[in-house]
Amino acid sequence: MSGDGPEHDLVNAGASGGRRLMRVEDSLELSRTILHCSKQGLSRTDFLQEVSEALLDLSGCDSVEMRLSDGGLHYRWETTRRPEKRAELELVQWIIRDDGRVLPALPNKTDLEHFCRRVASHDTDPDIPCFTRNGSFFVSDTWEPLARAMPGDKNAETQAACIGGHYRSLAAIRFIVDEKTIGLLLLKSEPAEFFTEESIQFYEGVAQTLGLAIADKRAEAALRERVKELTCLYGIAQIVERPGLSVPQMLHHIVRLLPPSWQFPEITAARIVLDGSSFTTPGFRQSTYRQSANIIVGGRRRGVVEVVYIAQRPEFSAGAFLPEEEKLIVAIAREIALIVEREEAQTERTKLQNQLVHADRLATIGQLAAGVAHELNEPLGSILGFAQLVEKYPDLPAQARQDMERIVRASLYAREVIKKLLVFARQMPPNVIPVNLNRVINDGMQFLEARCAKAGIKVIQNLATDLQEIHADPARLNQILVNLVVNAIQAMPVGGTLTISTNARNGDVVLVVEDSGIGMTDEIVDKIFLPFFTTKDVDEGTGLGLAVVHGIVTSHGGSIDVESRPGDGTRFTVRLPIESPVTRDADDDDQLR
Ligand code: ADP
Ligand code: MG
Repeated sequence: MSGDGPEHDLVNAGASGGRRLMRVEDSLELSRTILHCSKQGLSRTDFLQEVSEALLDLSGCDSVEMRLSDGGLHYRWETTRRPEKRAELELVQWIIRDDGRVLPALPNKTDLEHFCRRVASHDTDPDIPCFTRNGSFFVSDTWEPLARAMPGDKNAETQAACIGGHYRSLAAIRFIVDEKTIGLLLLKSEPAEFFTEESIQFYEGVAQTLGLAIADKRAEAALRERVKELTCLYGIAQIVERPGLSVPQMLHHIVRLLPPSWQFPEITAARIVLDGSSFTTPGFRQSTYRQSANIIVGGRRRGVVEVVYIAQRPEFSAGAFLPEEEKLIVAIAREIALIVEREEAQTERTKLQNQLVHADRLATIGQLAAGVAHELNEPLGSILGFAQLVEKYPDLPAQARQDMERIVRASLYAREVIKKLLVFARQMPPNVIPVNLNRVINDGMQFLEARCAKAGIKVIQNLATDLQEIHADPARLNQILVNLVVNAIQAMPVGGTLTISTNARNGDVVLVVEDSGIGMTDEIVDKIFLPFFTTKDVDEGTGLGLAVVHGIVTSHGGSIDVESRPGDGTRFTVRLPIESPVTRDADDDDQLR
């Protein structure tokens, strides 16, 4: 109803005091307009606006008011013709009665409210002339004392004159949306005698259409929400299926699916936080209207999914989010948790596989090294023995004696290398006794501390008190310590901090050697346990230190881990079982006997 002509007429009709008769065509036209609005997918306020304006125009009233208890939101909507066409939505208190019915309860208890409540609760009396046969209420002139119209009403307040303010005609009609939702349509007109019993019947028809339209709109909205929810979850499934995406890449895409699935996409922003990294849609910021669900992986909270409204809507004061949205955000958080879980299981599998391959390679190299070492040991023994014999000749020329000394020194060095290779290949019998790792560290560090001090390295020792003894070869444990510490010193050419800690955890005694040195790239870390792998000059390293450490640790049934980043230092963690496999075997034997 937007043409200039009719609007003008109707304004006159309302304000000039003329009564406008409601005709069948008008009520049909109104019903059609209302149904049409309900099909357009308008927001709540837009819907109310359109419908009340149509009502205002076609009825010729001066004010149209609707009250509704709708999905937890109780409100009053009023559109008035004057001073200018203005509409407002006001949230109101409603009373929920024992029988579950909801009744409007405006704070100021005027007589009008009294009647409204009676109409809404269908507590009407056809003998009282204000109430129609169908339970609606209307007054022809609110300036006449009501007591005259309602001789039976004992309510003292209704004896007072005016209940309509400057509106002399009032009508209140109840309509039903569904079992739980009752609405009230209030029509007001400035002139007296505006309504007749007959026109009220027309409005009753219109009000019932309004109830149906709202029910229809709700069903459609519920369907739309469900479709959005499924679209969102389907979108996530598609992203997950896309090959070659990392978890951060997936989250980057997933977060964009969220806003369109919420009720007001244009003011919705979302954020996914996982392990401290966050992925947001444009415009995300903190807001009072916020919904969130935790991402829980293996019982641990790893992050959160958040949806916020970054602008205000009048509807929000009674809860901004739909129950469906609450469920959806929880479902999304669960999906993300599954993605993370799956990804981590895959990484763990790959890591284990790599470890196996690595262990296998080390074992092969160990066997090879042991074979070569044994082969070389023999001739080396001869070289060393005969060189030492030659050295003993009394009239050996000075030059020859010097050369012989060189041969002996080189052979001794070669013998050291062979010894290390044999340790790495676990071919040297260990001398296992009960030892306290802290003792080994205290003894070993006596010699190493001076070297650290000279290199400008601060040494911190965090040794666990009452550390349990383990069954191990103390000389080999010392070798572990020395090799790790020497590497650490070499990694801190301009000084730094060396931290040595021990503790007991999960049946292991743990040694941690940590430096603040140059660190390593992943490519280097991959190779450090291989014999002869070194990044150092010939006189600085043989590349056997960590190979030996690895050999000793595995021969004691333990494990060694390294964490390192270029420029960020290195941490080696050695775990040695408190009950070594050797002792456990012995215990088993005891039990058998
Ligand atoms: P070497 O010390 O003789 O080179 P290792 O087996 O002890 O042999 O070490 C192998 C390589 O591992 C080293 O050359 C070095 O590149 C790297 N490395 C070992 N420990 C550290 C450390 N603490 N910081 C940085 N790099 C290290
Ligand atoms: Mg070394």
